[in-house]
Amino acid sequence: MTQSNGENPQRTRGGLHQIRAGIQSRSLLAKKRVENITKDDVKGFFIRNAFVILTVAAVIIGMAALDSRASGKMGMRAVVYYTTTTVIAVFIGIVVVLIIHPGKGSKDEFTKQQQIEQVSPADAFLDLIRNMFPPNLVEACTKQFKTQYAKRVVHVKMTVNDTIFTLNGSQDIAREEMIPVPGAVNGINALGLVVFSMCFGLIIGSMREQGQPLKDFFDCLNEAIMRLVAIIMWYAPIGILFLIAGKIVEMDDISAMGGQLGMYTVTVICGLLIHAIFVLPTLYFVVTRKNPFVFIAGLLQALITALGTSSSSATLPITFKCLEENNKVDKRVTRFVLPVGATINMDGTALYEALAAIFIAQVNDYDLNFGQILTISITATAASIGAAGIPQAGLVTMVIVLTSVGLPTDDITLIIAVDWFLDRLRTTTNVLGDSIGAGIVEHLSRHELQNKDPEVGNSVVEE
Ligand code: ASP
Repeated sequence: MTQSNGENPQRTRGGLHQIRAGIQSRSLLAKKRVENITKDDVKGFFIRNAFVILTVAAVIIGMAALDSRASGKMGMRAVVYYTTTTVIAVFIGIVVVLIIHPGKGSKDEFTKQQQIEQVSPADAFLDLIRNMFPPNLVEACTKQFKTQYAKRVVHVKMTVNDTIFTLNGSQDIAREEMIPVPGAVNGINALGLVVFSMCFGLIIGSMREQGQPLKDFFDCLNEAIMRLVAIIMWYAPIGILFLIAGKIVEMDDISAMGGQLGMYTVTVICGLLIHAIFVLPTLYFVVTRKNPFVFIAGLLQALITALGTSSSSATLPITFKCLEENNKVDKRVTRFVLPVGATINMDGTALYEALAAIFIAQVNDYDLNFGQILTISITATAASIGAAGIPQAGLVTMVIVLTSVGLPTDDITLIIAVDWFLDRLRTTTNVLGDSIGAGIVEHLSRHELQNKDPEVGNSVVEE
């Protein structure tokens, strides 16, 4: 039959063989491609997409839901809460590190692990401002400003008494650039997106009926992404288990946890526990007169996610769900307070940065005076505001704190070995701080929120 078709069976078999070989090599190629889809890509896909859409939609509808007077009041309450808790956190960090003094001993105990990128405090501050106002919103979803240094080689020729001298030198020149930062959510300029969404939401809110279609659109977008998140949440416990297990297996130097670094770890844990178990719940109880631990129990899933992902931004969808569904916090408050809090309110990071800077001073036998400790507390607060809600962001912004008091920025490398672990704890504290903030702001804003439809944001404040 094959011959009647004019085909040579041998060639046909050969052809089939080639086709099979082709399929195999293509499947090998596909396998390679599948292997190339690393866990970071998958994590990044969900985190980036969910985070960008959720943040933009939530902040816009949160702002549009309130008229300018109400959002102004709520905003003021949120800012007062953020500032108070961050200052308390920094204070606790400083007190525990001064009492426990984990840095006594010699610096030789440490081995420097890896070089960390350094940027001067002025450039870091300017990057913060530039990131607040991104020139291009689409780029803000994938890139952020980051100053990088380039070397400029300088040749100077001089003639003195007929003799020519040549001087060669190099000069650091700063270039601020929009660069894609590798990693899961690192590339997102969250601050820029939040600032834009706040302005946009306020404008939509002021348009009243005319702005209604846009309000409905973002409301629907928010609802759709929350449904997607609800599906992903079913798999979250398995993912988190493997994230932590993978990290423990990767740890090459478990002995790094001993000695000074062990004491430092214990000190950070003490500070974070005091803030998370004592300060924040007390504040919640004093303001609302409700049981803070019942409120915290409702947040359990968000806290475990923060522990697993080391990212308050990645945890944001779960934080929304826990607050709105378990703790019944008004959506207009969560949509307004949570995305801003996840971006700028980081109690755990502030506490950590102040504590770590003083630890580095202790390791270097460097006596800090009161003025320097005050400088550390101010810069730690600023650095925590500037840190993005992504893994180990606090370690990078710590350069600002160290440089402000002349401590060696290279010494950040001393604490890198344990940062993967401490980052998880401070992220959990950050998420707890944002959530308790939402509970407190809701309680304080209850009069403005009364009698308004929580689903649709067409409230007008009546006083
Ligand atoms: N990982 C922390 C967060 O996402 C930030 C930090 O590094 O302190 O909240």
